[in-house]
Amino acid sequence: MYFVANWKMFGNLKSLNSLDKVIKFSKSKEIKKGRLIYCPPYTLISSFFKKFKNCLIDIGAQNCHESIDYGPHTGFVNCKMLKDIGANYVIIGHSENRSKGETDKIINIKIKSAIKAKLKVIFCIGETLTEKRKKKTRSVLSKQIKIGLNKIKKKSNMFIAYEPVWSIGTGKIPSTKELEQIIEFIKNKFKGRSPKILYGGSVNPKNIKNIKNINNLNGFLVGGASQNPKKFIDIVKKTYN
Ligand code: PEP
Repeated sequence: MYFVANWKMFGNLKSLNSLDKVIKFSKSKEIKKGRLIYCPPYTLISSFFKKFKNCLIDIGAQNCHESIDYGPHTGFVNCKMLKDIGANYVIIGHSENRSKGETDKIINIKIKSAIKAKLKVIFCIGETLTEKRKKKTRSVLSKQIKIGLNKIKKKSNMFIAYEPVWSIGTGKIPSTKELEQIIEFIKNKFKGRSPKILYGGSVNPKNIKNIKNINNLNGFLVGGASQNPKKFIDIVKKTYN
């Protein structure tokens, strides 16, 4: 199972101290085969890289510019730059960016750019509450997958994170049955070796027991709770116990 920590726009150099507990945990037997991936803000990627030097915790970024080339894009960072400072993963298509105008087409270009730079992609998809109420979840996910992954052949190295927008930061999660059906729906879209599938949205140490055994689920993308090392470790421990 994979556990991805999305720190969003939180954290500073002082927060590096909070990682000691997680580093210790990552070296213990308790973690079993779980893999931890931290996605801090851009400003902390280099420091995380140094901090995790002697352990197996991996690092990702939370977004990237669509251009693989260097160029006049003030304020942005491309995938080559991310790879250069130690990132191995990148989250693309997060709903917090989609809601600010990031389209499926741009997401598709970003994914291609990440693949060229040899970053592993964590591709986020998910429906809003209105879309869910109108029973459009499946058609929304289909469109996001179709356009987002257009002309991308090798998908087995990729992660798809199903993150219902209504669940992010709200404390609400889908029922086990709902989640099982959606994960199966996503999985069935791929023939052969499909991407790994993560669930994200208000995952915490209390609700993990309801969702940890979903068929075909390869892990979790954790936002708020991942900023607290104890909660993040608890999520991993409870997944295995
Ligand atoms: C996220 O932002 O990817 C996320 C899952 O957030 P939270 O866990 O806080 O709902």
